Amino acid sequence: MRYFKLSFLFVLVLLSCSKDKSNSKSDQNADLEQDIIREPEFDPLGNDAPYIYSQTYQGRNGYVTYYPGNIPIILSIPHGGDITPEEIPNRTYGITVTDSNTIELGISISNSFFSQYDIRPYVVINNLKRTKLDANRDRVDAAQGNIYAERAFDEFHFYIGVARDEIIQNFNTGLLFDIHGHGANPDGYVDPRTWLGYLLSADELDNSDEYLDQNLSINETSLYSLLYNSNESLSSVIRGQNSLGSIFERYGYEALPSDMSPSPEGMRYFSGGFNTYLYGADNNYNFNAIQLEFPYPGLRDTSSSRNAFSLAFVDIVQEYFLNYFNIDLFSL
Ligand SMILES: [Zn+2]
Repeated sequence: MRYFKLSFLFVLVLLSCSKDKSNSKSDQNADLEQDIIREPEFDPLGNDAPYIYSQTYQGRNGYVTYYPGNIPIILSIPHGGDITPEEIPNRTYGITVTDSNTIELGISISNSFFSQYDIRPYVVINNLKRTKLDANRDRVDAAQGNIYAERAFDEFHFYIGVARDEIIQNFNTGLLFDIHGHGANPDGYVDPRTWLGYLLSADELDNSDEYLDQNLSINETSLYSLLYNSNESLSSVIRGQNSLGSIFERYGYEALPSDMSPSPEGMRYFSGGFNTYLYGADNNYNFNAIQLEFPYPGLRDTSSSRNAFSLAFVDIVQEYFLNYFNIDLFSL
């Protein structure tokens, strides 16, 4: 009899527990539904790891694409996207112009590395149109408060960070090319040169080599790590015989700055934006960045232009890496 009473009590307790539980669960669900409206829960960044060479990673809704590579080069492409999802309203301030064909150009460069030497750079692409996300601004200006745009921004930089960490681990140092395209200048002039941005302003570049070397700190450039480890002067690295711009010129592609075009001399020129600063000027990392602003005609306008440039770019970058990093990309 005593056991029966105890069992009966136990069942009562169970019943009341389960009743309480079901009440609190439905309350939780209601809370959760409200939470979903207020703030969706995203998968943690990195939930699609591990990142394997030759695989493709898409991020949430395919707004950001990541192709892991196997050489110490990252191509980031922030302004070439064309996706315009309804969940992200248009940005209300800032520049919204698309850098046409820069995703196609980045893919072409990666494919040229692969077809020529069986290697690939790391590639991180923002597929959102610049009206939705500007992936070369700080988070506030980039996403302008929209949580889905902020998520894409976070993924874009997470993938670049993963690539940078892996490169530093494998090669000790590396280089990010932030890929852009410039259109006609405000006065209608179409500058055929690729503008190379090292975070040095047009006004700074308009000074003599001696002035640059005496008055500018390598901390102010996006090549801090390269310059710190180089015997060459700052002016030599950005516009001397072995500079990236001068190698461009030798391969038939005009560039600024270079030995042929040492400074803008009043012409329109972009010195490098948020990504160049973020990945090139952080002395905590042994890493460098250069903004590449490509002209449209003869370089990114058609697939044959892009393919021809991409094949040249592979050799340009090889020369640059041999000289400044003592790394032979083609034997990796
Ligand atoms: Zn751009």
